[in-house]
Amino acid sequence: MTTAAHFTSGRVKPIRLICLHTMESQEKPGTAVSVAAWFSDKKRAPEASAHMCVDGSQAGVKPGGKYPAPIVRVVDDGDTAWAAPGANADGLHIEMAGIASQSVKNWADAYSLAVIENAATVAAIWARKYEIPVKHLSLDEVRDGKSKGFIGHVDATNAFKIPGFDHTDPGANFPWEYFLQLVTKKLTV
Ligand SMILES: [Zn+2]
Repeated sequence: MTTAAHFTSGRVKPIRLICLHTMESQEKPGTAVSVAAWFSDKKRAPEASAHMCVDGSQAGVKPGGKYPAPIVRVVDDGDTAWAAPGANADGLHIEMAGIASQSVKNWADAYSLAVIENAATVAAIWARKYEIPVKHLSLDEVRDGKSKGFIGHVDATNAFKIPGFDHTDPGANFPWEYFLQLVTKKLTV
């Protein structure tokens, strides 16, 4: 169920893009829950939303140990999140705990690997359901309005160049190859 304070009910285009974001938030347990709550708070929410928030809450927890939900729904697939202008109407959006300026090393720590694992789980479910190929689209493909695949917020920014929108997440060091391999692996099990 959509809980976001700001979104558009329904969709005007078929789903074709899975778009990754970073929350620009701290890497700690409970970040997905708290960012989802922020998006859903009618008084405090930014004029933005995403379909799913994921973090790496399970990192370092012993088997059987408890941790906050690392995958939290904010907007239904059938509703339009306010996430990346140009890629909202036909996109599904995942907000990952972390920051766009993370280094290669930061993306390889236990918490980030758990974030990537959870994002890949969500993405694989969507890829199967909406028949989205596991490939990172070129800017021409993002712009053509029909190619199906994966993008980062930065690709929507660069493809559509809408004045005032300049987000570069999930950042230059996000391990796209590793992420897409994980999604592929999850699709084949
Ligand atoms: Zn973003």
